[in-house]
Amino acid sequence: MTNEISVVIAGPRGKMGREAVKLVEQTEGMKLSAVIDRQYNHNQLSDLEGFNSDAVIYTSPEECFTTVKPDVLVDLTTPETGYLHAKTALLNGVRPVIGTTGFTQTELEELKELSKENQLGTIIAPNFAIGAILMMKFSQMAAKYFEDVEIIEMHHDQKLDAPSGTGLKTAEMIKEQRASKQQGHPDEKETVTGSRGGDIDGIRIHSVRLPGLVAHQQVMFGGEGQLLTIKHDSHDRGSFMSGVKLCIHSVMNLQELVYGVENIID
Ligand code: NAP
Repeated sequence: MTNEISVVIAGPRGKMGREAVKLVEQTEGMKLSAVIDRQYNHNQLSDLEGFNSDAVIYTSPEECFTTVKPDVLVDLTTPETGYLHAKTALLNGVRPVIGTTGFTQTELEELKELSKENQLGTIIAPNFAIGAILMMKFSQMAAKYFEDVEIIEMHHDQKLDAPSGTGLKTAEMIKEQRASKQQGHPDEKETVTGSRGGDIDGIRIHSVRLPGLVAHQQVMFGGEGQLLTIKHDSHDRGSFMSGVKLCIHSVMNLQELVYGVENIID
């Protein structure tokens, strides 16, 4: 059992955290060694409703890392907390897998530097869904042949940022493949502001927010007499877990920070 990856999850009571707890507990070769929460210090997770695990809850990440000495931290909390947890993990010899987005450039640079100095892998994964990563990669491939593209991303109405991180990342990846282009009619005018969506180097991006949605995106490429649509739907948070598992394995073999799951799959 010495080869088991010892994992700590921060944010276990959250929607993503609950799925990640199940994942780690059910995956051979992984062990849920402890969790980090902001409540219930030194209780067992099984003291809380809906959990069976005897993993101990810590409110202090330092105490958790120095006592438990895990291999990997999976953080599914908030951007501010995710950054602090990642930094504390790296300073204590633990490899972070961070599922929150919204880090500043300075914070990212700092984590990159800490990762390198400590020769410890870090993965920051704005989207864990492998299908969504492939959608971005396929879109980048298609952009070589279709220069007119619009992105429609659709999320639940509790989402605070628009466009989504995945939508933005898709546009950036497409930008790497195609020359800048002003799309649509050169004289087009919006009679309702925002109707043509956001503009990223000419790529139009539209954000739909509705109850009932989870995370969905279509990338539409238009060409002479043809339309190519690349589409991905996350129907529930289980869709993110194969990516979490992949990241836990991959971070063990990294010595630096990797931003984006697309950079660890072929
Ligand atoms: P959620 O249900 O609100 O869960 C967040 C959890 O984090 C809550 O249990 C919260 O505790 C806990 N938390 C907040 N601050 C904390 C702190 N200082 N220390 C310890 N725990 C803390 O949200 P979710 O839907 O699970 O999403 C969690 C994060 O993952 C979000 O940042 C979201 O954007 C991100 N996410 C990433 C992906 C991806 O593919 N990368 C996919 C979906 C979501 P309280 O209940 O006490 O507030």
